[in-house]
Amino acid sequence: MRPLSLASLRLLLAASVLAGCQSTNSAPLPAASAAQATGVAIAAPIAQPPVSFPDWLSALRAEALAQGIRPATFDRAFANVRLKDRVIELDSSQPEFARQPWQYLDSAVNDVRVRQGRERLQQNAGLLGRVSQRSGVPAEILVAFWGIETDYGRETGGFSVIDALTTLAYQGRRAGYFRGELLAALKILDSGDIAPERMAGSWAGAMGMTQFMPTIFLKHAIDEDGDGKRDIWGSLPDVFGSTAKFVLANGWRTGERWGEEVALPRDFPWDQAELTITKPVSEWRRLGVRPLGGGELAGEDNAAVLLLAGAGGPVFLVRENFRAIMKYNPSTSYALAVALLADRMTGRPGVQGAWPRHEPALSKDERLELQQRLASMGFEPGNPDGIVGANTRNAVRRFQKSIGAVPDGFATKALLERLRQASTGGPAAG
Ligand code: CA
Repeated sequence: MRPLSLASLRLLLAASVLAGCQSTNSAPLPAASAAQATGVAIAAPIAQPPVSFPDWLSALRAEALAQGIRPATFDRAFANVRLKDRVIELDSSQPEFARQPWQYLDSAVNDVRVRQGRERLQQNAGLLGRVSQRSGVPAEILVAFWGIETDYGRETGGFSVIDALTTLAYQGRRAGYFRGELLAALKILDSGDIAPERMAGSWAGAMGMTQFMPTIFLKHAIDEDGDGKRDIWGSLPDVFGSTAKFVLANGWRTGERWGEEVALPRDFPWDQAELTITKPVSEWRRLGVRPLGGGELAGEDNAAVLLLAGAGGPVFLVRENFRAIMKYNPSTSYALAVALLADRMTGRPGVQGAWPRHEPALSKDERLELQQRLASMGFEPGNPDGIVGANTRNAVRRFQKSIGAVPDGFATKALLERLRQASTGGPAAG
């Protein structure tokens, strides 16, 4: 992940505002954390916590001990604890400009990362072979998670997990959630897997090379190398074994692909291109969806059509395993990055279609204006919140149909300009 910052910022705040991102508007907390740049961030005011830190810490200690954490573990963990202003700044930031999906993908799946992924695959062939044979999760998928999450262990986040989680549990916006993660982190320390000074992670407490949150660690981390410790900070066997266990638990289906890039017919029912709309592959075949290389779609599982850049951009048919990747992080751009990095490592081509690289991301003000104009014209985009989700895309489709354009739901500057012209005399939004 990028040095500090933008690392986990994306998971908490930005996943759902990425243009074209089809995750829900509520920006669900991630299972684990990874890098996704979010653009410029602006800080919001920080609320003062209601109790003093010593009083708060005293109550936390009582709760931890009641949960069976040893007093010595707690006291050692908090011996040098520091509240970190930087963590609160990051937790309070709101992205002003989302990155376009292709900007993120260009950086996340670059040639250097592909080459280094191939090297890692070769260097760890025996270990990866064993783990993937046992779990059914392909070696290249395990290495791709490692590459996207932490650039193969280079960018694991420079925060003390105890400092970061304490700060967020004491005065963050999601104090209850992070208190649970902090107690989980203490359980990990209590089990002896890692020393407090080595327990490093992102500002949001995502740990080690797999960027597991502590609760995910407790459920899924394993001691693959058999040294008695689950070490996702320093042991590659433990990193791959733990990643495989988590991905398998998230529904990975052995022997199947994540999906593929496809071509759509001109008369495709564009309102069916939403991640929430799944159909059997046979139904997509009937609707004219074709593999890029020609021939017919294979398989019979359920799939969805993913458009990240409108009808003119690349189109993907994503299957069950794509959803398994998204459970690591609920962003379509993230899941596509893991999938494409794995594909390219094994010699498959990257994205073949042309991204509309000339399209700038809409600013938050422009996204709000778009929603307000759609609402005032009766296209029902839902509550205007500056986040382009399924409701907004459907409203854009209704507007596009009304003007005879291809209803792909892609919100662009040109579309906003058409709305301004069409709603002249309407409310002065934006
Ligand atoms: Ca181990």
